[in-house]
Amino acid sequence: MTSPVETWVAERTGLKERLTAETLNRWQMERVKQTIEYARDNCAYYAKRLRDVDTSGLETPYHMQSIPFTRPEDVALHPESFLCVPQREVSRIVTLFTSGSSGRPKRIFFTGRDMEKTVDFFACGMSTMTQSGEKTLVLMSGATEYSIGDLLKKALARIGVKAHIHGNVKDVQRAIDAAKGFDCLVGVPAEVMYMARTDGGLRPKSVLLSADYVPESIIKGIEDRWRCRVFTHYGMTETGFGGGVQCSAGLGYHLRHADLLFEVVDPQSGRQAAPGQYGEVVITTLSREAMPLIRYRTGDMARMLEGACPCGGILPRLDEVMGRYANAIPIEGAGHLSIHRLDELVFAVPGVRNYSAKLIISDRGNVLSLTVDTTHNMDRDRFLGYLNKSIARGVSLQVCYARVSPCTGTAKRRIYIERR
Ligand SMILES: [Zn+2]
Repeated sequence: MTSPVETWVAERTGLKERLTAETLNRWQMERVKQTIEYARDNCAYYAKRLRDVDTSGLETPYHMQSIPFTRPEDVALHPESFLCVPQREVSRIVTLFTSGSSGRPKRIFFTGRDMEKTVDFFACGMSTMTQSGEKTLVLMSGATEYSIGDLLKKALARIGVKAHIHGNVKDVQRAIDAAKGFDCLVGVPAEVMYMARTDGGLRPKSVLLSADYVPESIIKGIEDRWRCRVFTHYGMTETGFGGGVQCSAGLGYHLRHADLLFEVVDPQSGRQAAPGQYGEVVITTLSREAMPLIRYRTGDMARMLEGACPCGGILPRLDEVMGRYANAIPIEGAGHLSIHRLDELVFAVPGVRNYSAKLIISDRGNVLSLTVDTTHNMDRDRFLGYLNKSIARGVSLQVCYARVSPCTGTAKRRIYIERR
């Protein structure tokens, strides 16, 4: 079955049966022009930043390169200067704590209509993996209006799926008990993985993992234990939570093209990467009311996939995200160490339920210290041998075994750094 996302794009753009990659390009560029004009007229940041941009030359996504980037630091510095509507029209504010140098939190604003667009996309995305009459358990927060759980519940109701909001996985056994009998589970990768490695008896039909990146080792780990299909999703607060979702072919994300323009750029030069080449994902919102973002640098590493998807989809897709540039820690003489790579290695071992990582940098050399939460039947000697063989030269390894809480909430996984 062709991804429902493509049908959704055809409907929401009004292109219907005329939808091709080319007609979509033209439609999106018209929307980019409108967004620039809207942002210039309504918010202080873009009034100044885009004052001299001539929108008449914006014919293809290639021409986006004449428009300056918006960086997370710009948002953190003066979030209110991005606001295009009066404060009273803001329905949801998300505060994001960044690990960036400024240390200031970013604030992202949405109107009720912005959130409605997210619900509309979620309803389409979820129909990839669940259908009318089924039950979905959401292992994410949903207590407040417009929280992810609340948005998902509203979206699932539209496609006839009953949703129960459980919240993040704090008590693993409670979450496992709660998940019995559900057709679809939605959650955070490391939390759902913890459940699967603790109890292999659950049999959901599908699982949706939502995060900035999802290691292959976690997808495989959950699929093996629960004999289910794992789907992943790409999105962040800045994309209005939803950005793209895999189809059943599992090759890349079918993108929310009616609300977002995606580019991939070389993180150093800022030039657009050729299709198939890795770079940093850059987004432009096409319909955001409260806080449009124009050429916003996400920090995520991925590439665009062109050509038809095995599902029959014809629009460009985003390949699996390979992690964040900011998380790649250079190790002298030994390349890079990243949480993404470490997750692939450590979660690939069946006895691992969770772990945390700290890199201690000192004059005496680098020490990678892992705290690993394992099941009782894990062969620790073998595990240590495997890690020593696999992890980059340039660090010495320290492993201890203890419980590591599965609950990550909205926090992004990373390697903590300590300088001594
Ligand atoms: Zn597809």
